Amino acid sequence: MIKKLKKLGLKLTPQRLAILNLLEGNTKHPSAEEIYKQLKPQYPSLSLATVYNTLEVLARAGELQEIRINADKRHFDPNPAPHTHFLCRICESVHDLDAGPIEIQAPYNINGYLVEEFTLYFYGICPGCLERERSKNQ
Ligand SMILES: [Zn+2]
Ligand SMILES: [Zn+2]
Repeated sequence: MIKKLKKLGLKLTPQRLAILNLLEGNTKHPSAEEIYKQLKPQYPSLSLATVYNTLEVLARAGELQEIRINADKRHFDPNPAPHTHFLCRICESVHDLDAGPIEIQAPYNINGYLVEEFTLYFYGICPGCLERERSKNQ
């Protein structure tokens, strides 16, 4: 990712490196605000705009994907490969969901409409919250 960032012409500031390090192998799908909050204590000069623009450049280059599963937050995933996501309506965490093979393959022609890509989001309650709900009811 660091090499790619250089190729994209972004200056490698310590803040940008910290954003990359935080994302590397991160499976929690952090939102831009969460990344900002986590790094702010260490990098007091960091701005939310820097976080957004670094993430946007990387997303445009296909190095990470933006997940628009939650209308209130913009989540980012360092795994750019297409996969399905799940949003827990209780704790609002985003998870990878292995939903098995999905039958629609893009590009796909539906009644004359050429579908080039599609996104599938799942919403519900995550295992952790289900467990908490269950123990509350006992
Ligand atoms: Zn949850
Ligand atoms: Zn993911």
